[in-house]
Amino acid sequence: MSAASVVINEATLNAGPSTTSHLKDLNAELLTIERNPHPAEPNFENLAFGRQFTPHMLVINWNNQDGWGAPQIKPYGPLAISPAAPALHYASGLFEGMKAYRSSDGSGKIRLFRPDKNMERMNRSAARAGLPTFDGEEFVKLIKTLVRLDRDHVPHAAGQTLYLRPTLIGTPNALDMGIPTEAMLYCICSPVGNYYTSGAGAKPVSLLASTDAVRAWPGGTGCYKLAANYVGAVMPALEAQKRGYQQVLWLFGPEKQVTEVGAMNFFMVKRRGEKVEIATAPLDGTILPGVTRDTILSLLRSYIAGEVDLDGLPAREVVEVNERQITMDEIVEAVERDEVVEVFGAGTAACVCSVERIGYEGTDLKIPIGPDGMGLFTRTMLREVTGRQWGVIPSQWSQVC
Ligand SMILES: *Cc1c(COP(=O)(O)O)cnc(C)c1O
Repeated sequence: MSAASVVINEATLNAGPSTTSHLKDLNAELLTIERNPHPAEPNFENLAFGRQFTPHMLVINWNNQDGWGAPQIKPYGPLAISPAAPALHYASGLFEGMKAYRSSDGSGKIRLFRPDKNMERMNRSAARAGLPTFDGEEFVKLIKTLVRLDRDHVPHAAGQTLYLRPTLIGTPNALDMGIPTEAMLYCICSPVGNYYTSGAGAKPVSLLASTDAVRAWPGGTGCYKLAANYVGAVMPALEAQKRGYQQVLWLFGPEKQVTEVGAMNFFMVKRRGEKVEIATAPLDGTILPGVTRDTILSLLRSYIAGEVDLDGLPAREVVEVNERQITMDEIVEAVERDEVVEVFGAGTAACVCSVERIGYEGTDLKIPIGPDGMGLFTRTMLREVTGRQWGVIPSQWSQVC
């Protein structure tokens, strides 16, 4: 790419965040709805992740002259975008992962969990990508309307959910690498199965610690949910699977700092003398700030402060929560000394996911798992987080659609 082809013109300079000047911000009141004339019947058999979609989608276009246009809900279907769109060439795109949870109490209520956190993160991603930011509260209102319209497609069975995929892409008919002059914000919805349906509840996973491929680095974009961060993970994940592991344990730097598990945040529970420590990597720019991670840390800190009871955990006096660097050397040593209590990943898709084995430099580190595949912390966090997501445990984090 020659410097001459990077065009900074009037249009790119004018394309700031939508909060500046005359540009219109996102306004849910301008919504129009075009109903799908042939909606498919809901079908919750054999739900594979993200293979089946609801009858409608939400689309909002933006350009740097007018700002955000009128939101549209319309039949789910292909988008028409320019083959030159930067989304297709320069990974000018980003996404979120959220879920709608149907209450099991017969009330028919459908809930979102901490959608404000997803909106804050999505706007941080947008700002980093040079894509337009937007009023997150308005977008949540529109997502709730979409979920209500497609409510028959929110599964009923325990653990099943409607996965929501808000997406923002750069769409101008232009190959320059400047700030996109046009963008599209949309949301599609996919009924997804219960991660925990097999066997007694948990399916612990095995991880291959990656000593060559790196997911994120200081000053990079690993702390944003940018599309660009995920394509590089495809081949390392395949390599791990070929070698008999399910996911990649992402490391960074000469000290082999443990960063994330696949597309989940990493947690390790470790005995430290009289104490039991639960630790996760700090938000140093290489870690995606997960909503599930934040929820787990908040609940544990409230537990230690005596503000909430979390049955099943050791006494609050002995529990310690830390966001700190964890290295592979530390894990190897802790496994040898039998100090590792449990290891799990955390993210919206699975909530929590126990780890039973880590392949590292040719050997397998065995991680303890409970008799039914979940340690005390993993089990307790699963119960406490999903309880709040489904509204079984009342919380301010839960919002009815
Ligand atoms: C989305 C994601 C997570 C989990 O975030 P949640 O908000 O908890 O779903 C963790 N790591 C990566 C790399 C992710 O993309």
